[in-house]
Amino acid sequence: MSYFRPQIDAMSGYVPGEQPSPGTKVIKLNTNENPYPPSPKAMAVLQQLSPEQLRRYPHPMAEQFRIAAHEALGVPPSWVLVGNGSDDLLTMIVRACTEPGRSIVYPAPTYVLYQTLADIQGTETIAVPYPDNYTLPVDDLIAAKGAVTFVASPNSPSGTLVPIQTLEKLAQNLDGVLVIDEAYTDFAQSHALPLVRSYDNVIVLRTLSKGYSLAGLRLGFGIANPDLLAGLIKVKDSYNVDAIACLVGAAAIADNAYKNANADKIKSERDRVTSALTDLGFYVFPSQANFILADASKLDMEAESLYKELKEKGILVRYFNQPRLADKLRITIGTPEENQALIDAIAALLD
Ligand SMILES: *Cc1c(COP(=O)(O)O)cnc(C)c1O
Repeated sequence: MSYFRPQIDAMSGYVPGEQPSPGTKVIKLNTNENPYPPSPKAMAVLQQLSPEQLRRYPHPMAEQFRIAAHEALGVPPSWVLVGNGSDDLLTMIVRACTEPGRSIVYPAPTYVLYQTLADIQGTETIAVPYPDNYTLPVDDLIAAKGAVTFVASPNSPSGTLVPIQTLEKLAQNLDGVLVIDEAYTDFAQSHALPLVRSYDNVIVLRTLSKGYSLAGLRLGFGIANPDLLAGLIKVKDSYNVDAIACLVGAAAIADNAYKNANADKIKSERDRVTSALTDLGFYVFPSQANFILADASKLDMEAESLYKELKEKGILVRYFNQPRLADKLRITIGTPEENQALIDAIAALLD
């Protein structure tokens, strides 16, 4: 006898990257957080919050953030649905659109949460393998006929970007919903937001966790036509965005200049780390995100040992013990000092 539904007993649950206890001194390059602090304008809003703003329930649609997103991105407020992180949007989409017989499709390897949410819902999934060069397997994704197709672009853990023309072909040929998860768009050369205007089955997801240095705030949003959002609104928690996140997030997204300046630093460090690791014998996938995927298969040391030895030295990177990733490390780009410590530590281990 179990207290749980059979599919809950059968599943393993999402395993987040390690979060060391507060106060632990580590170089944390394992969960793609931004190494720079949030916008000073956002922190000022946080410091000026009044008790009255917390006494009341928040606006159920996080109206102030919606308006700020409209001003920052040029999309109408009614095309924006805000969530407790973009993970919350993923949950709404899976709840509203899928069930047994209405499958979820995604190219793999990718963000593991897509599979976890499908398991909770009891929805079958079709994972279409990415080829080794990580170009999107469009025809196979179309042929899989998902009720929902998830594409992360830039993808995690590969860091690779899908061209908008490829995503457009997918949107055109799918009967179901196409979710373009742009969690890392702030570090990429291009994005696919214009597709939501032309295709009523497309939703683009964004987050303040990566580019805006606000992973702890929990704020993300989806952009799609209001008819698509209407179905998602029915299944969301009534007050899914708290008053603090709404106001601090609104100030953060208004400060694009600050976000872009940090993204520029991270992108130039991404180039530097890529060449340093290439010199050390790794193959580094071309990244458009704030992390890189480094293939260690040509090295004298295995990726898993490298991961463990780095951890020993107080440097956390991400190791995925799964097919196609077991010989690779996913490394978040940190500050120049953190990146140098990583490069030096790896060089010493390989020496
Ligand atoms: C980090 C990440 C998210 C989740 O972001 P939150 O807004 O913090 O929930 C979504 N998708 C991908 C691919 C991510 O890497």
